[in-house]
Amino acid sequence: MNQTVRVRFAPSPTGALHIGGVRTALYNYLFARKTGGKFLLRIEDTDQARFVPGAEEYIQEALAWLGISPEESPWHPGDCGPYRQSERKPMYMQYALDLIEKGHAYYAFDTAEELEAMRERLTAARVVSPQYNSITRTQMKNSLTLSEDEVKARLAFGEPYVIRIKIPRKEEVRLHDMIRGWVVVHSSTLDDKVLMKSDGMPTYHLANIVDDHLMKITHVIRGEEWLPSAPLHVLLYRYLGWEDTMPQFAHLPLLLKPDGNGKLSKRDAEKQGFPIFPMDWKDPVTGETAMGFREAGYLPEAVLNFLAFLGWNPGDERELFTLDELVEAFSIERIGKSGTKFDINKAKWYNEQYLREKTDAELGAFLKADIEKDGLGISEDKAAKIAHIMKDRVTFPQDIWRDSKFMLIAPTTFDQEVASKKWNQEAVSVLTQYMEELEGFTEEFSPEAAKALLEKAAETTGFKLGKVMQAVRLAVTGLGGGPDLMAVFSILGKEELAKRIKFALETLSIQS
Ligand code: GLU
Repeated sequence: MNQTVRVRFAPSPTGALHIGGVRTALYNYLFARKTGGKFLLRIEDTDQARFVPGAEEYIQEALAWLGISPEESPWHPGDCGPYRQSERKPMYMQYALDLIEKGHAYYAFDTAEELEAMRERLTAARVVSPQYNSITRTQMKNSLTLSEDEVKARLAFGEPYVIRIKIPRKEEVRLHDMIRGWVVVHSSTLDDKVLMKSDGMPTYHLANIVDDHLMKITHVIRGEEWLPSAPLHVLLYRYLGWEDTMPQFAHLPLLLKPDGNGKLSKRDAEKQGFPIFPMDWKDPVTGETAMGFREAGYLPEAVLNFLAFLGWNPGDERELFTLDELVEAFSIERIGKSGTKFDINKAKWYNEQYLREKTDAELGAFLKADIEKDGLGISEDKAAKIAHIMKDRVTFPQDIWRDSKFMLIAPTTFDQEVASKKWNQEAVSVLTQYMEELEGFTEEFSPEAAKALLEKAAETTGFKLGKVMQAVRLAVTGLGGGPDLMAVFSILGKEELAKRIKFALETLSIQS
């Protein structure tokens, strides 16, 4: 194929962009970059009843946050604009009329009540899925059943109508999907979908095909939920005379609940307390809120890496990929067919890996900001040192301050359980001796020096350091566990350390 690849992400601005949509955008982005093609974004807003203000901006910001912004979009139009379907409204009718002319579509004048009556009739006759189709259309009010004059009169009178596709009665529709291979559907299972609505807007189906054609889209990479619509789309390409340049299809596997039972939903995520949206969202109409990966502390690199692996894998053991490496390794052939489990622990694991790759200065700056939000202060240098000893122990940047408060705030209370088990005469003796050692020490108080002095104190008192270590930590931090203690000592400094030990010796009593 020597045609330039052009792919598109075509979200509807009906609320926060679901993480599955972000994955679709990512795969489109990766494929475009891999093939030297173009990645477009088209806003599919023909369903104006479902339009939500702010949703488009949300999509734009989410993709920018992840570094996968489209090259052509409503915000950066290329030659195929406009990039919002509502602004393309005047373009669609001609194609619907063309279909009518060729006998592949028809006007339908049925009212909502008449449609409902049809459904009731069919349900009473035990028809499993009552539809407007090649059989039922013969009993409805449309340009196939009404006389030409009557149709003309109704149109002239301004009677509301829709335009429906005329699905052939008995035909096999075949389509090739790059992930699933050949998909064959019998036309008797398809219904006569509406193409133009009574408000003059096209439906998703017509607009999608017309736009993909006019925007010279070569590959349609989208979620599996659109696979059932694909045969209809193939027929539309055929009837519009565009089959030769019809895009290739790739339908991405579903995202499943963590236990693999069914489709991942917002409710599952809320119940289990993890995000399935890229950023926080508040619906301006309903006030409904959704938690975002960004605000939860996920790094964009981690989210990208996590999403890339939801349905794709490189075929070997490698798991950590930068965006450029993903581009390099990506191929549609390596996307799986079956649904993929959404395992938030994997996302956390990725976050930990990428967090560790941040420099101490970067994480220190983050920590400093958090500390200042709490009304405290710290030098950049000290914040970087704390970040250094904490970064292997946390999942999210904000965990650093949460888990290192003791570095700035001396304990006033002590972990009761550890105190009752570990605070004993040995600990008191070693710590008392340690304070003396500290007082006489005048060199740089490095972690090694802190350790050497403590060993000396243990030796002098004749107790084993290993046995009192947890009590030592308790005295200085108030806690039973934490980062490398000698590094903690060194960052706290001699004076602060001595002050804390003194307080602990005065406050903690030995329990028997
Ligand atoms: N507007 C559709 C959606 O919201 C796009 C489907 C497609 O890519 O064809 O997912």
